[in-house]
Formats: sequence, C-alpha cells, structure tokens
Amino acid sequence: MKHFLASTLSATVPLATRGETPYFRWRWLGEGILELSPHQPVARALVLSAGIHGNETAPVEMVDHLLTALMAGEIPLRWRLLVILGNPAALRAGKRYLQADLNRMFGGRWRQFPASDETARAALLEETVSRFFQEDERTQCWHLDLHTAIRGSHHLRFGVLPARATPWDESFLQWLGAAGLEALVFHQHPGGTFSHFSGERFAALACTLELGKALPFGDNDLSLFATTARALTHLLAGELADTRYAKPLRYQVVQQLTRHDSHFTLHMSAETLNFTSFVPGTLLAEDGERRWQVGDETEYVLFPNPDVAPGLRAGLMLKRIL
Ligand code: ZN
Repeated sequence: MKHFLASTLSATVPLATRGETPYFRWRWLGEGILELSPHQPVARALVLSAGIHGNETAPVEMVDHLLTALMAGEIPLRWRLLVILGNPAALRAGKRYLQADLNRMFGGRWRQFPASDETARAALLEETVSRFFQEDERTQCWHLDLHTAIRGSHHLRFGVLPARATPWDESFLQWLGAAGLEALVFHQHPGGTFSHFSGERFAALACTLELGKALPFGDNDLSLFATTARALTHLLAGELADTRYAKPLRYQVVQQLTRHDSHFTLHMSAETLNFTSFVPGTLLAEDGERRWQVGDETEYVLFPNPDVAPGLRAGLMLKRIL
C-alpha cells in the first residue's frame, strides 16, 4: 500500500487492497481505513486516527509518513494496527467538517443529527473500530486520536482524556509525556468524541492529542511534530516510554460553559489562549439569568469559543490536580 493519503485525497480505490511485507499483512478496509496485522502474534491493538477534523492536516501527514516507513520495513510492527483518516470528504475540502462536527457524534450520538456524510462516517468508524478491538479479547487496546488545536495555547501540545470508570494505566500516561504532551486534561463526564467511544465501549486507553497548529497540506513544518512522530515510531516497534521526559501537568474539567441562547456573553477576548488562568470569583460568562464564575481555586480555560450554536459548549474550565 503506497500513497494511502494520496489515494484517500483523490477518492480512488487503491489498485491493490491487500498485501504483505516481511513484518505484517495489510488490508484496505475502505476509504481512509487500513488494517495492519503482524505475522507474529501480538498482545496489543492500536487505533491511530487523524483527520477527524478535515483542516487538521499535520497529524494526517505524520501518520502517512509512519505508514510509508512501516510499508518499507523500516519499523518492525509489534501491534495490530488500525490506521484511520477520519473525515476524507472534509480533508479534501480543507474544512473542519462539511455538515456537522464528526467528533461530537460518537457513541451513537450520530443518530441525533440530520443524516449526512458525517453521520454515516461516524457509524462506519464505530463499526470498524468495534470489529478491530473485539477480534481478540485478551488484547490491550489503545486509541490515539491525533488533532491540532485552533487557537494558541500556554501548553504547545496537550492531551484530552475521556471520562473513565477504571484507573488510568500509568505507563500510558507516561507514554503521552514521551510523545511531547505538556499537559493532560481529564474529563469527568461522557462525550461524543472518538476517544471517548473507544474508552467507554472497549476500556481502551484512549486520548485526543492536540499537537499544535496545522496549515494546509504541504505547508506544515513537520519538525514541530517530530517528538510525537518519534514516540509513535518507538511505540509501533513495541518500545514503551522512556522515563527521561518531564511528566505532563494534570488538569481536571470542573465546569462547562454552555451557550443556551443568543444572549450568551463570554467574558474573554477572542484571542484568549488555552490554559489561561482566572482567579477565584472571576465572572466568566453570562446567559440571561445564568452566570458562570470561577470557584474557590484558580481555574484555566480550554477551547473558549463564544460563536457556537445554542446548546453547544462555549468553553471548558479546568483545575490543576497535580
Ligand atoms: Zn480536532
């Protein structure tokens, strides 16, 4: 399988849809979906996804480079691997999404949206990931969903981890540090993200990685993503984290700012960086009678966006936990 990204961007079916290398067999399962299975039995399964948002191009290029290296036999593969380019139609258009945000639709939430390419894609990705993770119940499952953030941030790279009923595996969190993440944000409530789906349904160790800012295809400076690419290369070869890296700071979501109607006002400028701090008592947002204030300790904002549709999230407030 050569030119996986190019064939996805041109919406063509590759000439060959299965094959093998000295290390693994591969199968093209559909547009932007490729499964790699090592010849030797392995105890781990990894979903590596990028391009769930179509304008977040740099991680897509990074995944394509990793795949090229795997196909060339430069990386010995020690995981069953499912590579997913999330939203091919939006990638072709260079847009975050076409009809609605794919990363709000997982866990069956796509049924609540008007039918579109994105709702169909969410259903297909759920089915594909389910089949992949269920193939062997003894397998340790990981899902790394690669993104880039829209706005500037006090932490260049960070991870958002879905709410989880069981404790996190420290070696997973440590690997995220080795991948260059400076901060980890722990959700306390379910959500419609792809990583939440894998965590909730398959107890996969899952994370949404925000890896800096992206530019259109071909304009990205991939050296900015080198730390993450290197960590992924080692991971695929079965080497887990190296402990030389600084431990990421940890944050927990404490409140969500939600736009209820057109009177919503967010008391932050449009340029507010992710992880900007606010002192206790600060008025953060208002919506008619409703007011959001910082509680008894300093809070940090994540993904502030006053321009969302009514009913949607206009920002998350976090507190430091470590
Ligand atoms: Zn994204």
